Amino acid sequence: MNIFCRLFGHTWWHQTENPKVAWNTTKNLSELALTTEQPEPRFWLECRRCGERNENPTRDEIKRINC
Ligand SMILES: [Zn+2]
Repeated sequence: MNIFCRLFGHTWWHQTENPKVAWNTTKNLSELALTTEQPEPRFWLECRRCGERNENPTRDEIKRINC
């Protein structure tokens, strides 16, 4: 753990992973079809300093970084 994290606690910030977007050509090659591989984007908190992840943040933890 980073020394600053030990002294002051982690500095959480939002991280999201957008669904992977892929463009596929249709059979006649005149149109592009948009397909998404992941239906739901992932969301987690990550410490700015040491990179520690909080995969399942509670409501209180999210509130704390919003103010
Ligand atoms: Zn940290």
